[in-house]
Amino acid sequence: MLTVKSIHTYYGNIHALKGVSLHVGNGELVTLIGANGAGKSTLVNTICGLIQPRKGVIEFQGKPIQSLPPESIVPKGIALVPEGRQIFATLTVEANLQMGGYIHRHKREQIQEDLHRMLERFPILNERRQQLAGTLSGGEQQMLAISRALMSRPQLLVLDEPSMGLAPLITKEIFKIIQELREEGRTILLIEQNARAALNIADRGYVLETGKVVLQGEGTMLLQHQEVQRAYLGKGAKQIVDA
Ligand code: ATP
Repeated sequence: MLTVKSIHTYYGNIHALKGVSLHVGNGELVTLIGANGAGKSTLVNTICGLIQPRKGVIEFQGKPIQSLPPESIVPKGIALVPEGRQIFATLTVEANLQMGGYIHRHKREQIQEDLHRMLERFPILNERRQQLAGTLSGGEQQMLAISRALMSRPQLLVLDEPSMGLAPLITKEIFKIIQELREEGRTILLIEQNARAALNIADRGYVLETGKVVLQGEGTMLLQHQEVQRAYLGKGAKQIVDA
């Protein structure tokens, strides 16, 4: 569904992505892990058209998208759940969801139907549907950001660090939702610092370091990989993984 080929992205003279390649197949959950500053958000923003790469090709369903602006990429079927959630704090929960369906604004029935499905799926959002989104807890805001993205009926869902700033129990809940989406057959690219949680649910993963992919493979394989355990899972992680 998505193929990224040798992408180079810069901020002025800063060479943030140095020839990154990856692919996400139909129905796959692929994760990209890496430390702070590795280039994860830069890659997401490059895929979604928020930053233009200087070199390389990004194909979505076989067609190049690397020169398109975000407003042309969303209707093609890519939805982003951005880092830090970026919900519309001064709008209600319901209005946030309606904004997610903006590209379908001429299909009012579809938007109503999807809105209903989202509120049914996340009862807490239903309870708070008339509340301003800025008053929700972090976990609720993350649910809202995910359902807002789903309102565009994307082919590919891109999640940028959905666990950021959330308590462990809430993080667990968010990862359960992502896993359920995967089980429903959705195609997902998940960017995470929480390597263990991400690799646990991913079909495949990529490890990004200083703008380059240094490792790739099946989620379970990466979870057992010595380098990943040393760098991302902390001391003693092997025993926990093996247990
Ligand atoms: P984090 O997990 O902290 O968000 P990341 O893996 O997403 O990290 P990026 O935010 O993509 O990393 O940053 C990659 C590199 O690009 C870093 O060296 C960072 O300092 C640099 N960078 C990111 N955004 C900008 C910007 N707007 N201007 C200049 N340099 C930037």
